[in-house]
Amino acid sequence: MTMKRKSKAKHSSKPRSRRHAQVDDPPALDFDILIAGGGMVGASLAAALAPLALKIAVVEAVRFGSCGQPSYDDRITAVSWGSRRIFEGIGLWPQIAPQATAIHCIHISDRGHMGMTRLHAAELGVEALGYVVPNRVIGSALSEFLAGQKHIALLAPAKIEAVQMQSHGICSTLECETKKIITSRLLVAADGANSKIREQLDIDTRVWDYGQSAVICNVSVERPQEHTAFERFTSDGPLALLPMGEDRYALVWTVDSARLGGILAMGDMEFLQAAANGFNGRLGRFTKAGKRQAYPLSLVRARSQMKDRVVVVGNAAHSLHPIAGQGFNLSLRDIAALADTLAEITAAGGELGDAHRLGAYIQMRRRDQTGTTLFTDMLTRVFTNPLALVGCARNLGLLGLELFPPARHRLARLNMGINGRQPRLARGLGINDGTGRTAWEAHAPSAISDTGHRLA
Ligand SMILES: Cc1cc2nc3c(=O)[nH]c(=O)nc-3n(C[C@H](O)[C@H](O)[C@H](O)COP(=O)(O)OP(=O)(O)OC[C@H]3O[C@@H](n4cnc5c(N)ncnc54)[C@H](O)[C@@H]3O)c2cc1C
Repeated sequence: MTMKRKSKAKHSSKPRSRRHAQVDDPPALDFDILIAGGGMVGASLAAALAPLALKIAVVEAVRFGSCGQPSYDDRITAVSWGSRRIFEGIGLWPQIAPQATAIHCIHISDRGHMGMTRLHAAELGVEALGYVVPNRVIGSALSEFLAGQKHIALLAPAKIEAVQMQSHGICSTLECETKKIITSRLLVAADGANSKIREQLDIDTRVWDYGQSAVICNVSVERPQEHTAFERFTSDGPLALLPMGEDRYALVWTVDSARLGGILAMGDMEFLQAAANGFNGRLGRFTKAGKRQAYPLSLVRARSQMKDRVVVVGNAAHSLHPIAGQGFNLSLRDIAALADTLAEITAAGGELGDAHRLGAYIQMRRRDQTGTTLFTDMLTRVFTNPLALVGCARNLGLLGLELFPPARHRLARLNMGINGRQPRLARGLGINDGTGRTAWEAHAPSAISDTGHRLA
């Protein structure tokens, strides 16, 4: 694993300078909040803020629904139980639920060793540990939802090219068919792991290259196990199988980047055989393979998630290895807490860029972010390490989890994203929009739960 520190922007003094209007500048559009990036995290934040009486703009470089959209691509996301609750709080779950496959059990094992454990939703008294949802489904639910909000403007395709601080707000320059200037009280950078805004603001960022890639591919298997996800550690790298209904699974195979070319070059039959070998016939033969795609993996951490009137969220703030399926879930908890904070500021008639309150939000999220990042990084190191001694410890750990239910339940709760302090949206309260109504009442009275129970 190699570690890089992102070089400081050459134009480090620029963001602080006041931008003077140029003669040929178009008149500025004005918003309360500008969200840069309408990917899974930026668009979810806009949806969470919808009940507030704020003018919001979401600027997205690639049009929603286009096949080149990098956030809503062919990936499948394991959405945790906690994230379902947040989507429910926003009023989006009814649009997502019909195409979500519940995970009732997660089976974790190490190929060729005795160590294994199973996490069961029933043991935790919940309907599911999480859900398997195609990113495209999340994308279309979000774009439809946002299109129905009069005070949220979706500007796509458009790119934020430059941001400059002013005394009472931020001035952002957009590159679309014509140049546009947007002023706002707050800018949220949700523009992904290679965030241009983070770079412009000269926010120190650490990047650890794992030297690995995730190969994703949808497969069909001969003997599916309904609603069961598999996490399998093998000498060829960890394999995850996420159930998608009937005999279909989403496969995520983490491989050393040096082996990537060989895996992508395999014919379908050879690839299916190699993946099936990892499971020792537990699911029978792997019978069909979809398109294979690879994602290089690194851990990205911004040293600071706030500067002046800018808050950094999602992959721009922290991008994790997908081994534990936590990246988006963690970010959704962040944006639910940020929505709480912005709702409180608005209800109190405060300033959206209030450094004190935004600082409190960052402080509140630190524990979950650090814990989830360390947990994911530790899993990556332990489960991709070929040393026999590490393998031994790994197996003892898995056996210990199987034999000691409290430890297993703790791991399951971590996976479900329900450890620690939960934002209002995750508690089913809706954000405080100052009307005394919950987001559910404001948006989706039917969204309380598709199973009929109200989530406490
Ligand atoms: C293989 C793989 C599997 C994963 N599986 C899971 C999982 O099971 N569970 C989970 O929780 N997480 C998972 N993740 C992580 C998850 O995908 C990310 O956490 C999530 O995509 C982050 O979303 P984002 O909106 O922050 O960033 P992105 O998805 O990168 O979106 C950023 C958006 O900003 C736009 N943009 C960029 N620059 C600009 C600009 N200058 N102006 C305007 N717009 C701009 C881009 O077009 C893009 O739409 C996985 C990741 C990978 C790679």
